Amino acid sequence: MPFNQKRLNTILNKMPSSLYEVVGNSLGDANFNGYLKASKTITLEDAKSLKPLLEIAKQFSVAPISNFHVGAIAVGDSGNFYFGANMEFVGVPLSASIHAEQSAVMNAWLHGEDGIQGLHVSELPCGHCRQFLLELSNAHTLPIAVANKKYLLTDLIPHRFGAPREAGEGLLDSPKQRLKSIQVLDKDLSRRALNAAEQSYTPHTKNKQGFILEDVNGGIYEGRAAESAAFNPTVLAVTSALNQRNLSASREVEINSCVCAQVTFANHSQSSMAKAVLNSITSAPVEHIDLKFA
Ligand SMILES: [Zn+2]
Repeated sequence: MPFNQKRLNTILNKMPSSLYEVVGNSLGDANFNGYLKASKTITLEDAKSLKPLLEIAKQFSVAPISNFHVGAIAVGDSGNFYFGANMEFVGVPLSASIHAEQSAVMNAWLHGEDGIQGLHVSELPCGHCRQFLLELSNAHTLPIAVANKKYLLTDLIPHRFGAPREAGEGLLDSPKQRLKSIQVLDKDLSRRALNAAEQSYTPHTKNKQGFILEDVNGGIYEGRAAESAAFNPTVLAVTSALNQRNLSASREVEINSCVCAQVTFANHSQSSMAKAVLNSITSAPVEHIDLKFA
């Protein structure tokens, strides 16, 4: 389902006018980048807001393999609303996919949120996402709403795998870790990739990794690796960057440059998967930057 402006307009036009004013203007902005600012007009407890907003989130879904479209909205600690949707990549392993819940949480993180208050999803989260969400330091109190049913994450996954993350050491609220580049970084994109790697969340393998995409109009999308204790639900840095691009108004603008920054000692690498995922989207070359801990 490629993004369909006509379908989006139909959803927007059915909204109550007060909601349309807030949501329609943001989504219609050429600089829209995947979230709505906190607004008293948007109350996700009310089906009049929630239903159309989850429908909008689903419009970002790219699911050419499953044709199963899922939308999510993460509410950041700031009160902002972050869209999320699943993405699948043709011709590469299914494990490269990102799920809507992951997409929304990553989107909140990439916009500077260091916590989320809750998550609204159009479908019950799969086991993979329940495991991934355990990386949040507020996992034990995180409310998850599916349509009008409310759960705590711990209702959905009562017996956890992996140690609980303490406040200040989870996904979203872990401190940045200083890294140095082995090469001289003479380009802004390279420095951005280093910065993305510094902020990546990799407590289980220490394989810090960041990814930057730039499109032909100069749009820049940052991606960070986000590990799961169970490994497989990990979000790759490249997928994280593609997720930010997909949630933006420039989702179809051609990619021009890619920069991948990764620590050198890593005993596993996302590079081959990143290459495969990118090959399904762009022929732009990928520059690699080797990092070490400062
Ligand atoms: Zn899932």
